[in-house]
Amino acid sequence: MRIAIAKETAHLESRVAASPETVKKFTALGAVVAVETGAGLASGVTDADYEAAGATIAKTAAEAVKGADIVLAVRRPEPQALKGVNKGALVIAIMDPYGNEAAVKGLAEAGVAAFAMELMPRITRAQVMDVLSSQANLAGYRAVVDAAAEYGRAFPMMMTAAGTVPAARVFVMGAGVAGLQAIATARRLGAVVTATDVRPAAKEQVESLGAKFIAVEDEEFKQAETAGGYAKEMSDAYKQKQAELVAAHIAKQDVVITTALIPGRPAPKLVSRAMVESMKPGSVVVDLAVERGGNCELAKPGEVAVHNGVKIVGHLNVPGRLAATASSLYAKNLYAFVETLVSKETKAVAVNWDDELVKATCLTRDGAVVHPAFQPQG
Ligand code: NAD
Repeated sequence: MRIAIAKETAHLESRVAASPETVKKFTALGAVVAVETGAGLASGVTDADYEAAGATIAKTAAEAVKGADIVLAVRRPEPQALKGVNKGALVIAIMDPYGNEAAVKGLAEAGVAAFAMELMPRITRAQVMDVLSSQANLAGYRAVVDAAAEYGRAFPMMMTAAGTVPAARVFVMGAGVAGLQAIATARRLGAVVTATDVRPAAKEQVESLGAKFIAVEDEEFKQAETAGGYAKEMSDAYKQKQAELVAAHIAKQDVVITTALIPGRPAPKLVSRAMVESMKPGSVVVDLAVERGGNCELAKPGEVAVHNGVKIVGHLNVPGRLAATASSLYAKNLYAFVETLVSKETKAVAVNWDDELVKATCLTRDGAVVHPAFQPQG
């Protein structure tokens, strides 16, 4: 069984799909692991580290994937990057399939079985494979670190001989995995933290972290969570009431961190131009939803925009800004999944196609797109 890891080629992608620790574990499973030279450098892992863990170093991506039974990646590889893999090879990555149906078809035509890690069900058994959580948690932390770096004042209250510095007021919008980590990080830095979400379950979680919950808690709010624990699109009437409450609150904040997402839809617009204009110059907005259209009207992907002295931070691939940690957690997520796809006895790929994790994540197989969400219309 051959496992291949090539260097990521996407712009700004600093992560890598294997760590020395997972290479060691794959080798113990009976795999031969090939890593393209330099694949780990942006994550602080050298070729020598991978070699010491048992991998062989390939001079090129093509050499790494040649004869591979399993290809591990961070981003969806192009079909031409998979030339030379064994027939039916498993290709496992964050596939970003929505809106990229042609690329998914390309993987089917390449004859590989492609798996999208971000479609992993959020059930207890699969928690260790949950890449959305492992990466969002780091993004939430980094959003606060980025905000603190952009903010021209201190976060904690300081009583000094030269005078008292007030604590920064931080408002976190969206209290999922990223938002909760942002709350915890901002609290550790000494900020006074408030947060909002449309899911009623979030209130208790926000309060348990020592932050105050801010939301219109009407009947609609009480019903606002899907069975899967995700947010629903709210009615226009609710959005209006919530926007008024939030507008009054934002005017008093120093830092706003937005993380709000709705599965399969563009990010909800929560911070308007007028709200940004109500903030004091020197304040900071960090928009973690910028890749999905943004929560802040003025956020620009990949830029720190400045409007009336307020900085609006729109960094892309925020987990990649902590590449070493993000890679090591992502690699562990992958290892945990791959372990379920191979036989310990035969030391070969042995996929149980009826397993719910496989059914939920498998996009292509035997030359066809097989995932129910990506079937051609009609
Ligand atoms: P997400 O990234 O889809 O969205 C981030 C947050 O934005 C969510 O909390 C969502 O409710 C919120 N949001 C959406 N619209 C909003 C609006 N208009 N205003 C304010 N907030 C808004 O969410 P996530 O971080 O992936 O978490 C989603 C759910 O999954 C949560 O309930 C979380 O606890 C749960 N979860 C479960 C597991 C598990 O393994 N059981 C693992 C991770 C997360």
